[in-house]
Amino acid sequence: MATLKDFRNNIKPNWCPGCGDFSIQAAIQRAAANVGLEPEQLGVVSGIGCSGRISGYINAYGFHGVHGRSLPIAQGLKMANRELTVLAAGGDGDGFAIGMGHTVHAIRRNIDITYIVMDNQIYGLTKGQTSPRSAEGFKTKSTPSGSIESALSPLEVALAAGATFVAQSFSSNLKQLTSLIEQGMQHKGFSFINVFSPCVTFNKVNTYDWFKENIVDLEEIPDYDPTNRVMAMTKIMETNSMLTGLIYQDKSKTSYETHVPGFREEALAKQDLKISEQDFEKL
Ligand code: SF4
Ligand code: MG
Repeated sequence: MATLKDFRNNIKPNWCPGCGDFSIQAAIQRAAANVGLEPEQLGVVSGIGCSGRISGYINAYGFHGVHGRSLPIAQGLKMANRELTVLAAGGDGDGFAIGMGHTVHAIRRNIDITYIVMDNQIYGLTKGQTSPRSAEGFKTKSTPSGSIESALSPLEVALAAGATFVAQSFSSNLKQLTSLIEQGMQHKGFSFINVFSPCVTFNKVNTYDWFKENIVDLEEIPDYDPTNRVMAMTKIMETNSMLTGLIYQDKSKTSYETHVPGFREEALAKQDLKISEQDFEKL
C-alpha cells in the first residue's frame, strides 16, 4: 500500500519560503495515501498561478492547464477514466475570476472530482494585484487607492450553485485540511474545498496571524448540522465567510457521470448507486 512518500517526487517547489501552498501540497499527499490510493490512481489538474505548479510536485498523473481552465480538463479526465480519483487545484484568481463560469457549472454538474482553491486573496504569480477575494479597501499595485469592489464569498456561491460538498480550511491546520481532502475524495460528487493559503510575499494584510484571529472553526458552533443547507448559508453569512470545517454535505444526490447512458451500468455494477436497476431507469 502506498504511503505519503510514494506521492512525493524529486522536484523542489519554487514557492517562496513560508507560502501556504507547501502545506496544501503535503495535505493532498497525505490524504491520497490515507484513502488508500496508489499514485497511478490519482490525477492532479491545475490552472495558472503560483498554485498551478502543484500538479508538478505530486507523484501522480499531472496536468498543468491554462488560466482558469483546470475544471474543464479535470471533468474531461474523470469522464474518460471513471476509475481515476481526480483532483483539480488552483488559486482564487484562477477559479473565481477567469475560471468562475467553469466553477459554478462544475459545482452544479456534480461530477465526482475534488476541487481545491488555494485562496491567498491576491494574485501572487504576477506580483501582487487585487483578486476577486481581496477585501474592499485592499491596496495593491492595481488598486493603489484601495479596491472599490466587495470580496466574493466562494462558500455562498458554491451553496447557491447546488454544491453537494462544501468545506473550508487553513493551510496551517494540516490535520483538518488533510481530513477534509480525504472526505472530499470519498464524497460521490463534486467536492469544493476553499483553503486559506497566505501569500507571505505580496499580501501583508491577510497574514497567518490575521487568519488565526479571524477564522471561526465549526467545532466552536454547538449543534452545527452540515446536512442543513439553510444553517450552512446562515453561518457562512454570520461569520463573513470565515468558517472552517465541513460546512455542507449532501450524500443523497448521485454524481453526474452515473446518469450518463453507457456509464450507468458501470456505476450500478460498482454499487456506486444503491438503487435497483428498475428505479435507476426512472432517473
Ligand atoms: Fe506563495 Fe505568494 Fe510566493 Fe506565490 S508569491 S509562491 S503565492 S508566497
Ligand atoms: Mg491568488
